[in-house]
Amino acid sequence: MSKQYDVVIVGAGPAGYVAAIRCAQLGLKVACVDKWIGAEDQPTLGGTCLNVGCIPSKALLESSARYDDISHSFADHGITASGIKLDLAKMMARKDKVVSDLTQGIVSLFKANGVKWLQGAGKLLPNQQVQVTAHGDGAESVLEATHVILAPGSSSVEIGAAPLKDDVIVDSSGALEFTEVPKRLGVIGAGVIGLELGSVWRRLGSEVILLEAQECFLAAADEQISKDALRQFKRQGLDIRLGARVVSCEAGKKGVAVQYQDGKGEHTESVDKIIVAVGRRPNTNGLAADEAGLLLDEWGFVHVDEQCRTNLPSVYAIGDAVRGPMLAHKGSEEGVMVAEVIAGQKAEMNYDTIPSVIYTHPEIAWAGVTEQALKAAGTEYNVGTFPFAASGRARAAGDSAGMVKVIADAKTDRVLGVHIIGAHGSELIAQAVIAMEMGASSEDLAMTVFAHPTLSESVHEAALAVDSRAIHIPGKKKIKNSVVADHLD
Ligand code: FAD
Ligand code: AMP
Repeated sequence: MSKQYDVVIVGAGPAGYVAAIRCAQLGLKVACVDKWIGAEDQPTLGGTCLNVGCIPSKALLESSARYDDISHSFADHGITASGIKLDLAKMMARKDKVVSDLTQGIVSLFKANGVKWLQGAGKLLPNQQVQVTAHGDGAESVLEATHVILAPGSSSVEIGAAPLKDDVIVDSSGALEFTEVPKRLGVIGAGVIGLELGSVWRRLGSEVILLEAQECFLAAADEQISKDALRQFKRQGLDIRLGARVVSCEAGKKGVAVQYQDGKGEHTESVDKIIVAVGRRPNTNGLAADEAGLLLDEWGFVHVDEQCRTNLPSVYAIGDAVRGPMLAHKGSEEGVMVAEVIAGQKAEMNYDTIPSVIYTHPEIAWAGVTEQALKAAGTEYNVGTFPFAASGRARAAGDSAGMVKVIADAKTDRVLGVHIIGAHGSELIAQAVIAMEMGASSEDLAMTVFAHPTLSESVHEAALAVDSRAIHIPGKKKIKNSVVADHLD
C-alpha cells in the first residue's frame, strides 16, 4: 500500500527535523523517516546532533569545566573547596537526561505540527517515491511524495590504522560514554571534535595526547587565532603533537600501543584509550536505489545547487550529506530554505556568514574570511584587534585570555571577518554574524553603544581598533594590508 505526502524527509537530525517542522508550518503534509536507535534500543529523533554530537558533548564540556574550575580556579576568588569528588556516573546520567529531554521535545514538536514520524530506514526510489523498511519487523512500505528532502547526515570516519575496539579504541560517540576517566588518553585528530573531547577528559583528570597528521593547527581558523589557541591549549596541559600521522594501534590487556610517524621518525606511545576523531563522511551509502539516478560527488556527498536541489526533479538534499561545513545550524537553515522553496517562496541562504565555533576553553569562534585568505586573494583590508586582558568584565571574571579581531575591507570598510578566542566566544560571534548579515562596516560597529562592563565591548573596541581608535589599549599606527604580515608571526 502506498501513502501520499506533499513532502517526505529522510533523516530527522537538525537538518531534517527543522525542514519537517517548517514544511508543516507552511501547510504541507509531511512525513519524516528516521532510523536512529537511541538509548534503551528505542527509536529517537534528533540525529547525530542531539544524540551523540552537539548536545551531549556540550553537556560534558559544561560539567567538566565546573569540575576543573572548582578544582583549580575557585581559590583565586577566595573560595576554598575541599572534598571535591567526581561522580562520573552521575555526570553521564545528567548528560543522558539532557539528551532525552531534548529528543522528547522534538517528538512533541512533531506532534504539535502534525509531522508523521516513521521509524525505519528510508531509500529513495524513482519518481519521488521513498521505500521505508520499518524497525522491528522489517516491514516494507512505499511513500509517494510531491517532494523529497534527503537529510541522512554523516558518520565518523574509520581508519585502518585504528580499528574501533569495545570501549578502548572508540569514535566520538564512544568518547561520550567512558565509565571511568582514562589515565592516559590518545586522541587521533586535533580537529574540532578531537579538541572538544580531549578537553572534556583532560579537565576530568586524563593526561591527553593529541596526534594530528597535519603540520598546521586548525587550518580553517585565522592563523593569529590558531597560534594563540595552540599556545593556550599546550599551557593547559593538552599534549598536541603536529605532523604526527598514526599508522597503527594495537590493543592489548593494558591499553593501546599507538604508533605514529612524524618528521623525526617512528614513535610508539602507550595509552589506556584512544579516541578516533579524524573527520566525518556523508551517510549516502544505500540512500538511493540505483534506478533513482541520484548524483553523488567523488566523496559521496549528494550533489546539490545553491538551493539544495539535487539532479532529480523535486528531490532536495541538506545538512552534513551535502557540500559546506558539517554544522548543525548550517543544516537547519538549509532545511528552512528548502521548505520555503517547496512552498513557492523566494528563499535563499548566505553561506558566507555561517559561524564556526570550537567549544574549548577558551572558545574559538569566527565568521567570514581569515586574514590569510584575504592575503592569498590579494584583497586589501584593515585589521583591529582587542585583547580580553584589557576588558574590565573579563578581568572581573578572572578569565581574560584571548582577543577579538575584526577584519574590514580597506576600500569599503565592510566587515569581512571576525575572529574570537576567549570565554563566551560562541555567544559573542553572533554580534559579528548579525553585523555581517546586515552588510555593516567596522564604523557601524564602532558607532554602536555597548553596555559596560561586558565582553561585548571587546567587539566594539576591536572595531574601533580597525581605525586605530581603541580606547582601552595604547594607540597603534593604522595597520594596512602591507604591514599586516607582522600579525601572522
Ligand atoms: P544528522 O544529525 O547526522 O542526522 C541524520 C539522521 O538521518 C540520523 O538520525 C540518521 O540515523 C538518519 N538517517 C540516515 N540515513 C537514513 C536513512 N536511509 N533512512 C532513515 N534515516 C536515516 N555541530 C554544530 O553545529 N555544533 C556543535 O557543537 C557540534 N558538535 C558536535 C560534536 C560531536 C561529537 C559530533 C559528532 C558532531 C558535532 N556537530 C556539531 C556536528 C553536527 O552534529 C552535525 O553537523 C549535524 O548533526 C548534522 O545534521 P544532519 O541533520 O545533516 O545529520
Ligand atoms: P576534523 O576534520 O576537523 O574533524 O579533523 C580531523 C583531523 O584528523 C584532521 O585535522 C586530520 O588531519 C586528522 N587526521 C586524519 N587521519 C589522521 C591520522 N592517521 N593520524 C593523525 N591525524 C589524522
